[in-house]
Amino acid sequence: MQVSVLASGSKGNCTFIEMEGSRLLVDAGISARRIKQELSNIGQAIEKLDGVFITHEHSDHINGLATLTKKYGIPVYSRPETFRAMNCYRDIPQECINPIMDRVRINKLTVKAFGIPHDAADPVGYSITGSVKCVVATDMGFVDSNLRRELESARVMILEANHDVDMLKNGEYPWPLKRRILSNRGHLSNIDTAWTLVHLKQKPQKVLLAHLSESNNLPELAMKTVRQILDQQGVKNMELILTAQDRCVSVDF
Ligand SMILES: [Zn+2]
Ligand SMILES: [Zn+2]
Repeated sequence: MQVSVLASGSKGNCTFIEMEGSRLLVDAGISARRIKQELSNIGQAIEKLDGVFITHEHSDHINGLATLTKKYGIPVYSRPETFRAMNCYRDIPQECINPIMDRVRINKLTVKAFGIPHDAADPVGYSITGSVKCVVATDMGFVDSNLRRELESARVMILEANHDVDMLKNGEYPWPLKRRILSNRGHLSNIDTAWTLVHLKQKPQKVLLAHLSESNNLPELAMKTVRQILDQQGVKNMELILTAQDRCVSVDF
């Protein structure tokens, strides 16, 4: 089983997951050409994808979706409201559109969509379960106990560590944008991410820190902040892995 974060950040998000013989993407926020290239670099063919699951309609999650569906006919799954809110909705072939509310079966896998707080039509994270569970959860304003339940008992997790609060507050973003990011419908800070992990009862073995801001975070800072809080709280045996905007990061599990 393999997770490859092909790209992660505000310029485009796309994650490839291979489990129990099925191959899925979560989000298609980079060009279809780049998805094809990155997949071929890890020995995977774009034509063999079983589906792409979209978390929400922001462009950094759907930029490559129209081409991906038109050229390769890959089925797309997402909430109905998200489909309606996509600017590329009319470009997606009808037969590729699969609205889902809760969960869907893909071969031996169960993929579950769960609601997350973010400023989009009906944003979700996904848990993908076969013999083990893998969770993708980015673009979240906060994590409450309901959301935490969805994250429990994952073997591997792609979890947002968007910003350092001080870098954001002291940075150059205009105040309305800062307020949006810090709000309950914005993005998780490094500290939020760490505490989310601390509070899980059944912790993941591997966590890929994702959707790092290029303006308001630094990879080393995200890693250090999360690691420090985990250490202080006595959390052991959790591997943290940084993802990147312009480089594929793969993990076996
Ligand atoms: Zn995003
Ligand atoms: Zn977003």
